[in-house]
Amino acid sequence: MEQENNKHDYDYIIIGSGFGGSVSALRLAEKGYRVLVIEKGKWYRQHDFARSNWELPKFFWLPAIRFFGIMKMTFFRHITILSGVGVGGGSLVYANTLPMPPDEFFTTGNWKELADWKEELRPHYETAYHMLGAARNPFLDTGDHALQQLAREIGREEHFEPTKVAVFFGEPGKAAPDPYFGGKGPERTGCTFCGGCMTGCRHNAKNTLDKNYLHLAQQLGAEIKAESEVFDIRPLGPADGSGGYSVHFRSSTSFFKRKQSLTTRGVVFAGGVLGTVPLLLKLKRSSLPRLSDRVGYGIRTNNESLIAVTTTDRSKDLSKGVAISSILHTDRYSHLEPVRYSAGSGFWRLLMLPMAHGPNTFARLGKIALDWLSRPLANLKVALVDDWAKRTQTLLFMQTLDSTLRFTRDPLGGMRSRVDQGKAPSAFIPEAESLATHYGKLLDGKPNSFALEPLFGIPSTAHILGGAVMGKDASEGVIDKDNRVFGYENMLACDGSMISANPGVNPSLSITAISERAMGKVPAKGR
Ligand SMILES: Cc1cc2nc3c(=O)[nH]c(=O)nc-3n(C[C@H](O)[C@H](O)[C@H](O)COP(=O)(O)OP(=O)(O)OC[C@H]3O[C@@H](n4cnc5c(N)ncnc54)[C@H](O)[C@@H]3O)c2cc1C
Ligand code: SF4
Repeated sequence: MEQENNKHDYDYIIIGSGFGGSVSALRLAEKGYRVLVIEKGKWYRQHDFARSNWELPKFFWLPAIRFFGIMKMTFFRHITILSGVGVGGGSLVYANTLPMPPDEFFTTGNWKELADWKEELRPHYETAYHMLGAARNPFLDTGDHALQQLAREIGREEHFEPTKVAVFFGEPGKAAPDPYFGGKGPERTGCTFCGGCMTGCRHNAKNTLDKNYLHLAQQLGAEIKAESEVFDIRPLGPADGSGGYSVHFRSSTSFFKRKQSLTTRGVVFAGGVLGTVPLLLKLKRSSLPRLSDRVGYGIRTNNESLIAVTTTDRSKDLSKGVAISSILHTDRYSHLEPVRYSAGSGFWRLLMLPMAHGPNTFARLGKIALDWLSRPLANLKVALVDDWAKRTQTLLFMQTLDSTLRFTRDPLGGMRSRVDQGKAPSAFIPEAESLATHYGKLLDGKPNSFALEPLFGIPSTAHILGGAVMGKDASEGVIDKDNRVFGYENMLACDGSMISANPGVNPSLSITAISERAMGKVPAKGR
């Protein structure tokens, strides 16, 4: 029996070490399984992170030019996507914010008929909060006070609150023994409110996944293989994978891409939307033809708009605090958060143009030209501002309202986006424009957008979701309500690709909670 149990190299191979992958690693290891996590990105320790986002090779993931940083940008026809890479996935680069989604999330989208999600997920959200070390942000600064003022002026002050974030707020800069896991976790250091969360925390204060789930999983014997990219998975024996799988991977950082493979009884897809969905689309055409035809459908964003408000007032330093320190619920469906980088992290200034909404590129360029001609000095001052990160607060506007895209693979292996249901996500949300203008006045600042928005009308998102959504069967979804992939045995998908409705707010807490629930359904080894 023992031999039968251990006939593969591992019981579970997990592809990707972000939120879904890390939860899976710990919970499967706790159930007695032999676990391997394969991660494309690098291990980043505290002092490996970039000092500012000008340190491009440590900030961007762009292997073609030997940049092995923690953030990847991917460009589609309908959307520009920011995502995380490395051991800990998006937790390395994210802004730590863990809002609870509104009730609509649990009762809409592809999963609405499958369970009483709000009730079922309640205990898993509690676990997620505990595991990620969520705490209410204790420090509000200039950008937050301006948001609170905005809330007051639009009659929504009671809807403003400091964020809950995955950060250790001990004595600033002082090391303390593990505060979360009864001594089993690593030492932590109190947050210094430097604003650098999105270039990677160099102060050991951010509760990234390598400090909680992955750390504890390793103690239970789970292994992590970094700098390795999975490119194929083949059933061993029966076509439904009941005899296990061979998992094929190669180095993602060395010049020599020697191929290797390992066998496993089960597989968890946890590469995030941009890892899992392209891989599933490829494997459906080759090694895993029984996958649902719904792979790639139901791609969602949070209908986001990112607008950078830059002030020329040198008395204002907007870089102090955690990356996202407060939130304003501007109506039932919409949320606004001020986002910051640490002083000196001004790389994005190269990619900014004045905010200009309009029906086409010509109209928008016309507006930008007019803006420059009518206010040349103000524009010049903003363009030449001394420290962009110190003088800029980026407003992240998000909405629960739903529409979906579909990702497909073209014959050359590239990825494409198409509109699936509803309207394509838009860079031009009137409420976002008006709130940013109002906020700009409060800060003596000027709103700018990421250049692709006014130039091509393409919005950006850091919250890409869906593509392997839930359904009652394979005609409706790629996975069932317990995250099991239709058509295959011992195969699950646990990451942003499983999200089957629009949370309308930053999604990592929900990804963690839903993965906790899915892992709770996997029986312990031998049972
Ligand atoms: C700048 C920024 C700020 C953000 N701020 C917030 C925030 O404040 N709050 C919030 O909730 N969310 C935030 N997000 C979003 C959040 O990071 C993601 O929603 C979350 O990380 C998704 O989790 P996941 O489990 O889907 O996988 P991910 O965290 O995306 O991890 C997937 C991992 O799999 C690896 N991988 C992919 N393919 C393969 C393969 N074939 N082989 C091996 N490894 C592979 C990737 O390298 C990656 O490390 C932010 C994102 C960005 C970019
Ligand atoms: S504000 Fe600075 S110290 Fe605090 S979590 Fe973010 S990067 Fe770390």
